[in-house]
Amino acid sequence: MSQVVLKQTGEQIKKMQEYYQQSISPKIPPGGVFAAKLSGCSITAYKSGKVLFQGPSCEMEAKKWGVADQPPNKKTPKPSPNKSHLPEHFESLSVVGSDEVGTGDFFGPITVVATYVNKQHIPLLRELGVKDSKGLKDEQISAIAKEIKNVIPYSLLTLHNEKYNQLQQSGMSQGKLKALLHNQAIGHVLNKIAPEKPDAILIDQFAKEDVYYQYLKGQKVIHRENVFFSTKGESVHLAVAAASILARYAFVQHFENLSKEAGFVIPKGAGAQVDVAAAKLIKAKGKESLPHFVKLHFANTEKAWKLITKKQ
Ligand code: MN
Repeated sequence: MSQVVLKQTGEQIKKMQEYYQQSISPKIPPGGVFAAKLSGCSITAYKSGKVLFQGPSCEMEAKKWGVADQPPNKKTPKPSPNKSHLPEHFESLSVVGSDEVGTGDFFGPITVVATYVNKQHIPLLRELGVKDSKGLKDEQISAIAKEIKNVIPYSLLTLHNEKYNQLQQSGMSQGKLKALLHNQAIGHVLNKIAPEKPDAILIDQFAKEDVYYQYLKGQKVIHRENVFFSTKGESVHLAVAAASILARYAFVQHFENLSKEAGFVIPKGAGAQVDVAAAKLIKAKGKESLPHFVKLHFANTEKAWKLITKKQ
């Protein structure tokens, strides 16, 4: 049986888990993070960062996430997204790009941004330092965001936790919420730039294409003309990189405001430190304050409660 092994970061594995949530298999092997079964490919992600793709279509599936590890005697190239499904010279086209931030953070909202990067703006954006926001510090993000805000058309949507929790409790998955926000932000930008039209629209991929459109079923307007999906979209076109910078900038600002409201610095992510912070918040402001600050369905809510009851 053919197989491919990829080495991924913890964050990337979290993204993969979300991406395959429709196909998640309940059996996780020892040392595993998640397992998923697709037709033609089984995927197992391990805590070590290794992700194993097995089955006849494993190569195709693995390509979405990067380049396989080379034999140890060769230098391992940096994983790069597969661009074979995109038009040629995609990076130099005029593109609407969209990305989101905050979906894996217990505290803070989800921010989604779509931008339009006309090809004439590409050199300027490069000059301003636009690149993958994951490689940038918060101060750099804020400096670059302030510059590009005045250069490129964009739409920013913020889903605060009160609303997020309501929608989530009414049965909406996070994937569906993201799809709705991306579709809406893209629509806003297309309206802003009309009658000009982009050569293409690129969504930083968080779900399989058919699943994305399933999420959008029933929407009045569904943007699908010239829409492409790519994982690691920030490195595929600057429009996604710029979107990720603006989304992160907005997210960081909301986070600072939440810290002010809480009276202490709120941690990012979904690790043990957020459990402690949530417990502190419940003690200071009562549990009714939680829906304003956190994504309630995360396991962290339960863990914060355990911390409080343990201490009493
Ligand atoms: Mn993304």
